[in-house]
Amino acid sequence: METFDAVVIGLGAHGSAAALALSRRGLRVAGVERFGRAHGMASSGGRTRIIRLAYFEDPAYVPLAVESWTRWQALEAESGTPILTPTGGLYGGLAGSAVLDGAIRSAREHGLPHEVIDADELRRRWPVFDPAEGSQALVEQQAGVLRSDLAIEAQLAVAERHRATFRFEDRVTGWRSSAGGGYEVDCASGTTLGAGHLVIAGGAWMPELVPDLRLPLRIERVPLLWVEPRIPAAEVAVGRLPVWIIETDVDGSFYGFPYDPDAGLKVARHHSGEVVASDELEALDRGLTPGDEARVRAFLRTRMPGANGPLRGASVCLYTDTPDEDFVLDTYPGAPGVAVASACSGHGFKFSPVVGEILADLAIHGRTAYPVEGFRASRFAA
Ligand SMILES: Cc1cc2nc3c(=O)[nH]c(=O)nc-3n(C[C@H](O)[C@H](O)[C@H](O)COP(=O)(O)OP(=O)(O)OC[C@H]3O[C@@H](n4cnc5c(N)ncnc54)[C@H](O)[C@@H]3O)c2cc1C
Repeated sequence: METFDAVVIGLGAHGSAAALALSRRGLRVAGVERFGRAHGMASSGGRTRIIRLAYFEDPAYVPLAVESWTRWQALEAESGTPILTPTGGLYGGLAGSAVLDGAIRSAREHGLPHEVIDADELRRRWPVFDPAEGSQALVEQQAGVLRSDLAIEAQLAVAERHRATFRFEDRVTGWRSSAGGGYEVDCASGTTLGAGHLVIAGGAWMPELVPDLRLPLRIERVPLLWVEPRIPAAEVAVGRLPVWIIETDVDGSFYGFPYDPDAGLKVARHHSGEVVASDELEALDRGLTPGDEARVRAFLRTRMPGANGPLRGASVCLYTDTPDEDFVLDTYPGAPGVAVASACSGHGFKFSPVVGEILADLAIHGRTAYPVEGFRASRFAA
């Protein structure tokens, strides 16, 4: 058995961040990932993710987003990788919508620079949109695009510089307390790893890695589209179009990114509602269905007609949702040194550098100075 100070199970956004945080603190870290390096089979795959501060979900996330922004920039400098492109952000909807009201609440509570504009002004500034009459949008400067694939690779590479070693294409089949203290982690390859600390960050596979926690997770199949705009690409390029989220009154919220010459305009619905059973994950159809495209087209036709051009590409990603859409970041009861993370619900990527620090704190010390009370796994027990 090979022994380490810490083993990290799952090397998506959060496992790779935890591996980096642990290895930076001087621990000898091993990581195990069932797929390849920065793969596209789980929740962290693909090229881009939004980072934003006026957080409509809950003002409590704002300090974590602010710190994450700084940490992403530090990782850029340390790794020499371009990760964060500031674009500004716009979050729109009718008065009373969760996206608009939530963003305004967060911006005001935390004194974030912002402005609130009406539908006419939105149309004037960004003619690609045709907002609903009476709608408004919050506009903020400090929002942007994370190159998610490069970000994960940077987290892994810098961790490797700090002596972390990773096993890809190997699956953890189980973990247990070791008779001599610490934990043993069994891999499908036949290897067993020993460590005093474990971080379990298995995304959609958390129920099989921590069945005793009975986490009420719901996996969603979420399709993404890349389209060519109907207006000149320069009008929706970085520098012109911010990242955006628009809540409709007919079919939930859609979000998107500025034009990427290599891929097109990325547009998706936030939450598809298409639930995938845990035992169907391996066989999940990752192709775009006509229904997937029709749903996004219906939004583009009405609210973003200037973007409703030819399809350039598509992919399918997994959301792992908790019932309240807040994260799970906790210690494992009765197993000192073990930390668990399920930080998705479709909005966790941006926080990875902070989540990594939280997981390292929880695994090493069993507690953290970050505000994680709302992320306890036990909140679902009641
Ligand atoms: C389409 C889409 C768009 C999103 N947009 C945004 C956005 O704009 N901004 C934002 O902040 N967030 C966004 N998110 C959410 C964000 O991407 C997730 O919160 C984040 O990627 C979750 O990372 P994770 O490491 O927890 O999970 P995952 O990426 O799923 O990683 C878990 C890893 O564990 C591995 N694993 C599982 N079981 C085992 C095992 N037994 N042995 C070894 N390895 C195992 C898996 O292969 C996987 O790599 C989006 C998510 C999706 C799907």
